[in-house]
Amino acid sequence: METWSALAYLVAAICFIMALRGLSSPVTARSGLRFGVAGMAIAVATTLALPGVVSFGPILAAIALGGIIGAVVAIKIQMTALPQLVAAFHSLVGLAAVFVAAAAFTNPAAYGIGVPGAIVAGSLVEMSLGTAIGAITFTGSIIAFAKLQGLVSGAPVVFKGQHPLNALLGIILLAMVVTLVVTNASLAYVMIVLLSLLIGVLVIVPIGGADMPVVVSMLNSYSGWAACGIGFTLENNLLIITGSLVGSSGAILSYIMCKGMNRSFISVILGGFGGESVAAVGGSHGDKQVKSGSAEDAAFILKNASSVIIVPGYGMAVAQAQHALKEMGDTLGKEGVQVRYAIHPVAGRMPGHMNVLLAEANVPYEEVVELDDINRDFAQTDVAFVIGANDITNPAAKTDPTSPIYGMPILDVERARTVLFIKRSMASGYAGIENELFYYNNTMMLFGDAKKMCEDIIKSLQA
Ligand code: NDP
Repeated sequence: METWSALAYLVAAICFIMALRGLSSPVTARSGLRFGVAGMAIAVATTLALPGVVSFGPILAAIALGGIIGAVVAIKIQMTALPQLVAAFHSLVGLAAVFVAAAAFTNPAAYGIGVPGAIVAGSLVEMSLGTAIGAITFTGSIIAFAKLQGLVSGAPVVFKGQHPLNALLGIILLAMVVTLVVTNASLAYVMIVLLSLLIGVLVIVPIGGADMPVVVSMLNSYSGWAACGIGFTLENNLLIITGSLVGSSGAILSYIMCKGMNRSFISVILGGFGGESVAAVGGSHGDKQVKSGSAEDAAFILKNASSVIIVPGYGMAVAQAQHALKEMGDTLGKEGVQVRYAIHPVAGRMPGHMNVLLAEANVPYEEVVELDDINRDFAQTDVAFVIGANDITNPAAKTDPTSPIYGMPILDVERARTVLFIKRSMASGYAGIENELFYYNNTMMLFGDAKKMCEDIIKSLQA
């Protein structure tokens, strides 16, 4: 049986690796997903077939209940609310790690790691790691969820002595782990849980709006390491492998996103960046003038262009404008206009958000170009068509060192001959900062819902 289960786990692990490989590109994402589902089905079936698994009733009831809740949530969830859903799910992974470690600590004999008061030292270290990372992931994810859902302010919460306090708590946590390993004291275990829960809150509260994408992928990584910790406690190789895959892919994604936003990974983790300054939203804007136009004006400009770069952002997702946008792009294409789509690494509210939506609308992959590969082309482009994007085009990232997004690479749309900007108002984007671009001479604002505006432009183009 052991050989069979080891072999099945190996197959499942290979499926997970193939899943990650597939998910790295929109072209292969669907097959990647199938590998993931197959791997998970093999993993669950193999685990249930292990001789140690005897209580099928509660396990199947939990699978059914969890499966139903997961399916309902997945069907009902809006694309735009995915980051907070992911954060909520990560909190559960963290909590599961704490529960498994607590079960092993209170009933070590069931796990074959000793008896209460005399648990194998190595197991205590694994247990402490799983508990600490799990508890940090749990509270950290809850704070991230609350920030992303708008239940609490997305602004960073910073106070004097924050970093020394975190460092002190970290040292006490380490001391508790040593105490637990040496004495097996229950109090040390409880202290590890409580300290880690507190650290989870303190690590995430100082992280501001603009850095939340990195936090989501960082928590993803933590949840993987927490699962890996449980894997050691349960002596389950597949959980160790899967946890490591999630942990390392989340860490790599965090690194890529930090690079995309020109942030130092360490400074994001230490917190206190992003969203500090919140500019006036709407209302008076001093002497600055905004040029606004209609769908007909936009259609005229687009028709007379020879090249157009479309820059989608979060507002396109809100309006579900991707299909209308594709139709507009196709209509322009038939008129002989070269149309491409520029993707910023943190556009929208989750990594790959724009790619997924454009793929859903069947925009050909070769028309979708990443920031690094297209930024140079704006200077030779007639029209930059910004649809529901804001922060990712904000020149303050290049010009204003006090801006929370300063240093983040942006799409240089202002270099195009004309910038058309679809949004409903003068409101700021996620980072809460004003966008100077709205007042530039070559900018024309198209106020309205992104989908409706695209549909009106199509009508004008076809008229
Ligand atoms: P922004 O949030 O900066 O701007 C989106 C704009 O869309 C808003 O200014 C809004 O203006 C407009 N909008 C909203 N609804 C509609 C609608 N129905 N029709 C037309 N316009 C609409 O989005 P960006 O994509 O430019 O930037 C992403 C931001 O999100 C970055 O700050 C990034 O750091 C952050 N982020 C990214 C994550 C990721 O993983 N990608 C995760 C979490 C945060 P108005 O209200 O006037 O219409």
